[in-house]
This record gives sequence, C-alpha cells and structure tokens, in this order.
Amino acid sequence: MTLDLRELYQEVILDHHKHPRNRGPLADATSTADGHNPLCGDTITVYVKTNGGIVDRVSFEGSGCAISTASASMMTEALHGKSLAEVEELFRQFQDLVTADGPAPTDASLESELGDLEVLAGVREHPVRIKCATLPWHTMRAALKGAHEPVTTE
Ligand code: ZN
Repeated sequence: MTLDLRELYQEVILDHHKHPRNRGPLADATSTADGHNPLCGDTITVYVKTNGGIVDRVSFEGSGCAISTASASMMTEALHGKSLAEVEELFRQFQDLVTADGPAPTDASLESELGDLEVLAGVREHPVRIKCATLPWHTMRAALKGAHEPVTTE
C-alpha cells in the first residue's frame, strides 16, 4: 500500500470516528445486543430494525476506539436495505478482509460490496485491532439472532 493511500484510509476512519453515522438508540428497534471487547475496552450496543426479512435501519451507541467506532459507523450504512442473507454475505466478506494473511490490498476488489469498509483492511497488519473492527459486526449478528447474552470478543 502506498503512503498516500494509507493517509486516505486514515482520514476516512477518523471522519467516521469524529462524526459517526447512525449513532444513538433506535426507538423502534426490533432487536438489540450489547458487545464488549475487553482487550481494548470497546463497548457497544447495536440496534436493528428489520421489516419482512430486510434490515430497515441499524444504529449503535457506546464508547470505543477509532477503529471500532468507524467500523460500527460504516456498518450501519452498509447494512441499510439488505436482506438477512446479504447481511451474512457482507459479514463474511468483512471478516475475510480484516483477517486475511498478507498486506492489505492496494486497490478495491471488484468482487467486494464493502465500499468504504475496505479502508479497515489495514487492521489485518495489527492483530490487536481486528477485534475492534469485528466487534460491531458480531454484536449486530447477535442482535439479529435474538441473543440474550452480551457478546464478548474474548
Ligand atoms: Zn478498540
């Protein structure tokens, strides 16, 4: 990855960290779940509103590092209007992106529907940060599955 691209990625992450999208409780949420990443101290609550098998809205609140907040912010945008099957597919792609071996790709993959989320590919080079990036996603899936126990990355 070139330095310029890293800087651009950093900017996108910081923008989502400073101005998170869809932050705050969702009054008419159909399900919610709590997540915690003890390694970093990230805590998150994810609210999901589904309607006929389609994700209508996702929001989150909590306190976390730039990576977890940016991942949550971008996730809420990416999941809007997706079917539950599409949500699973995006989760799989995101999980692959941040846990793959080797350096982060230098160009956006044509296969991927992740969009802005691709800026988080760099966390694969910082294993401690992978749990920060995936915490919102695990918590969102727990909400969709109606889990009653809080999610922990440990
Ligand atoms: Zn974190």
